[in-house]
Amino acid sequence: MYYNIEKMDGYFRIGSPENVFCYLIEGTDKAMLIDTGFGYGNLREAVRSVTDKPLVIINTHGHCDHVGGNGQFEESCFIHEQDLALCYEHSNREIRAGNVEQAKHSLNYETGEMFDALPEDFEMETYLNRSCGNLQTIKEGDLFELGKASMEILETPGHTRGGISVLYREKNLLFIGDAAGFFVWLFAKETTSRETYIHTLEKMYALQADGYIGAHNPEIMHKEDFQLYIRAASEADYEKGEPFESFFAQETKPKVCALDGMTLKDMFRPGFAAVVISAEK
Ligand SMILES: [Zn+2]
Ligand SMILES: [Zn+2]
Repeated sequence: MYYNIEKMDGYFRIGSPENVFCYLIEGTDKAMLIDTGFGYGNLREAVRSVTDKPLVIINTHGHCDHVGGNGQFEESCFIHEQDLALCYEHSNREIRAGNVEQAKHSLNYETGEMFDALPEDFEMETYLNRSCGNLQTIKEGDLFELGKASMEILETPGHTRGGISVLYREKNLLFIGDAAGFFVWLFAKETTSRETYIHTLEKMYALQADGYIGAHNPEIMHKEDFQLYIRAASEADYEKGEPFESFFAQETKPKVCALDGMTLKDMFRPGFAAVVISAEK
C-alpha cells in the first residue's frame, strides 16, 4: 500500500512518502481522520483498512498538503471558516499540477537523493479534477464525541488564519497540523501577525498536553519545546535571517530566523528552533 499505517498509543498514524502524516482516531461509535494529505494515493482505502465506523474528517488548515484527499470522501470535511478560501485556492487545478511536479522530484532528507513520490497507479486527470470535498465549518469549542474519545476543536491561528488543533481529551494529546514546531512557515499571505502566532504558542503551552503531534515531523513535541518556539518567534529578526529557497515562496523573499545564531545546517541539532518570515511579518 502507498500509505504506511502505524498503530500508535491511542491513534493511528498514516504516513505518505512526501513526509505528510494524517491521523486516525477510532472511538467506540465513530472514527476521526485528521487531515487528508496531498491525497495522491487511495486514502479512503487506507482508512477503511483500519475501521469501518462512520467517519468525521477534520482539516487542521487549508493548505494543499492537508486537504488534498478531501475529494475522495463522501463524508463532510470540517474546516475553520477563515481557511475556506485557502482550501478552495489550494484545491485548484493549477496548484495541484504544481504539486504533482514537485512530488515527482521529492527529496529524501536522509540520503539527499531525489525520488518519485507518486503511487504507481496515479491518475493525473482524476487528481487534477478532484473536488475539495463536502466542506463544513468548525470553530473554537466544537466537540466531536466518537465514543470514549472526545475530540475538541481549538483555534490555533498563525501559520494560517483559520488554523485549528484537535484535543483528544481522554489521552491529553493535541493534534496541531502545522501550527507549531521547530521550523514554522510564517511568510505566506494567509499567515497572521507574529503576535497572533505567539499567542497561539502560549495557548498551546498553557494547555499542558502530554504530547503535541504535528503533520510533518514523526517526533512528538512536548510542553518544554514550546518555550523554545516562543523564544524563536519573539526574537526573530528578519535582517539577520538566512534567505529561504522554496518553490512556494518566490515573491515574499522569506528568511529563516533561527535561535542562538544557528542556521539551516543545524536543523536536526537539539535546541534548534526557527521561524521562516517575510520582511513585513
Ligand atoms: Zn501548512
Ligand atoms: Zn503542511
